[in-house]
Amino acid sequence: MSGCYEPIPTPALVSIQPTPTPPTIIKPTTTGPGLYPAGWIPPVALERSWSAIIIHHSATTYGNMAIFDKWHKEGNGWNGVGYDFVIGNGTYSGNGQVEVTFRWQQQQTGAHAGGTPGNWANEKGIGICLVGDFNRTVPTERQMQSLVRLVKFLQARYKIPASQIYGHGSVPGGHVTDCPGKYFSVTRFKAML
Ligand SMILES: [Zn+2]
Repeated sequence: MSGCYEPIPTPALVSIQPTPTPPTIIKPTTTGPGLYPAGWIPPVALERSWSAIIIHHSATTYGNMAIFDKWHKEGNGWNGVGYDFVIGNGTYSGNGQVEVTFRWQQQQTGAHAGGTPGNWANEKGIGICLVGDFNRTVPTERQMQSLVRLVKFLQARYKIPASQIYGHGSVPGGHVTDCPGKYFSVTRFKAML
């Protein structure tokens, strides 16, 4: 099986039946220009105090949230896709389309950056996966535009400084991985913020 995720156990198995999105109470946001999609804002009653953002590639040339959800359930035995957000590359979702996962909507602990002390990267880090194998290609321009918009929103909402934005492989204390790939420059990305 491919992908950058690691075979770490998730805590308590939670029901994986699709549940209707709970009613969302949307706080007015004053962050940045324009309105943000409501799905980016979790139900306020559940909202965690996130302190980091961790960027991944899928290490596959194609995919979308549903495909990774299936792989992570069947291949890793997890309760669903490990990331909070998935940004498509035009294969099985739109080029630059941001999909919001159940994990974000329910504010669950992530399953995308294992090995850190106290599992901090999964507890406190928001996991964003761009579809693509960035050891072979660069992200699409639209993926990068969406990533910038999403990360700016998350930074503003949770007061996350640029120093707390990581590529998966540079997460302090995390497992060794080349994710998000040699053609994804975290430094260049941060310069776009
Ligand atoms: Zn990764």
